[in-house]
Amino acid sequence: MPDPVCVRCRGALHTPEVVGEWTCDAHGVVEPLHPALPAEAYHLSDVASSAAVPVWLPWPVPLGWTVSGVRRTTGTGPSRAVAVGLLGPGVTARQAELVIVAEEPGVGLGASYAGIGTTDPGPEVASLPSDTKVTADGRPTALWSLPVSDRAAYVGEASGLWLWVVAWPVTEWMVVHDDLRLVDVRAPENRLHLAELPVGPLSPRLAG
Ligand SMILES: [Zn+2]
Repeated sequence: MPDPVCVRCRGALHTPEVVGEWTCDAHGVVEPLHPALPAEAYHLSDVASSAAVPVWLPWPVPLGWTVSGVRRTTGTGPSRAVAVGLLGPGVTARQAELVIVAEEPGVGLGASYAGIGTTDPGPEVASLPSDTKVTADGRPTALWSLPVSDRAAYVGEASGLWLWVVAWPVTEWMVVHDDLRLVDVRAPENRLHLAELPVGPLSPRLAG
């Protein structure tokens, strides 16, 4: 198993001298990020069993899309950030990619996929009207668009945690809308969907 990397910059980490304290030269103590795993049911199930945050899966999976990987941070306790990747036919691009992240504030996995330099969205986000919404665990969840140019990045809050949804290329922003229904794989009734998942090759953005 390759060594975990910095959740914020993907740089190398120093092995903890204090238990659980992985450090990055640029970012100090960070959550260690493990390599992306293929979206096989047993990987998703395993990640769901050890996550402190939802493992969001669009269900139903949008037509023509495949689930293409799962990635988590794990230090000494349960995962504080989990990302699920999907690949699908774009409306404008031949291939579109989607990464959905659930995380505790201060971790920075979602921000790293969104391409912003902080761990969390700035307070200015919530002072503006939301740009779109998705349905998370049956609840309409407002999302705010982030000012990045090469991808479409959105963030909102679901169950007291950040929900990030990032799409590539930027012209595929329309995949994020209120018919995108996210279910948490941790719930036993949602585990049943894993047997029916369309599984695709590992998503390069998720793995990067
Ligand atoms: Zn770093």
